[in-house]
Amino acid sequence: MSDDRQERPRILVTNDDGYGAPGLEALVRAVEPLGEVVVVAPDRERSGASHALTLGRPLRVWEAAPGRYRVDGTPTDCVHLGAFNLLGDGGPDLVVSGINRGLNVGDDVTYSGTVAGALEGTLLDRPSLAFSVETDDRGECDFEPAARFARTLCRRVLGEGLERGVFLNVNVPVGAARGVRVTRQGCRSYQAAVVERIDPSGRPYYWIAAAESTPDNDPGGDHQAIRDGYISVTPLHANLTHTPSLDALGRWGMEAP
Ligand code: MN
Repeated sequence: MSDDRQERPRILVTNDDGYGAPGLEALVRAVEPLGEVVVVAPDRERSGASHALTLGRPLRVWEAAPGRYRVDGTPTDCVHLGAFNLLGDGGPDLVVSGINRGLNVGDDVTYSGTVAGALEGTLLDRPSLAFSVETDDRGECDFEPAARFARTLCRRVLGEGLERGVFLNVNVPVGAARGVRVTRQGCRSYQAAVVERIDPSGRPYYWIAAAESTPDNDPGGDHQAIRDGYISVTPLHANLTHTPSLDALGRWGMEAP
């Protein structure tokens, strides 16, 4: 980073709840004191978009205000366009995604557009973080504690950087957090949660609902941290290889047909 960039780093903010989401505003306010903020966010909710990149049609960008862009694409599209086109001059020094309404822990990470925004930042070799908050019994969120933690953690990451290829998935529980735990990504078992109904012309349609699920109880996992009232910080990376399986599969002696 050049000296002025060191003093005033460029921070790309995206999300998957869409441009107007209150969590995005909270994250912008959180990181504004740390540098020059540019928002590049989907024009509508793209929760569950995962790491989709739009290839089959053009993308449109609206500059809603100076340095505030709405894109008719996914969070991954937003980070991609932000880094290569909209920010110019070498792109962002930091990518932050969120603050998502609802947790992104365990297997849900693989569906998350919020996490994918940070993943894309990492693939473009920028330090990146994703932030999500737990909803309360009424389905509502208080973004402020997560925003305060985001400011502290982003300042630290701007100062120290992250290991290359690693990004942070941060989840904040309801209420006053008891502390912060560095965790592993957990897993959960899902029950079927697809609603089947009949449309007015007699054809069935299907609606995938928020699944009832049983989270694991790994004491070092992200689920347990949230259950215990701690902020969960999970270091993630893009490479999905399961290294322990390499030897066993190698011994299968697979041959080309
Ligand atoms: Mn979302």
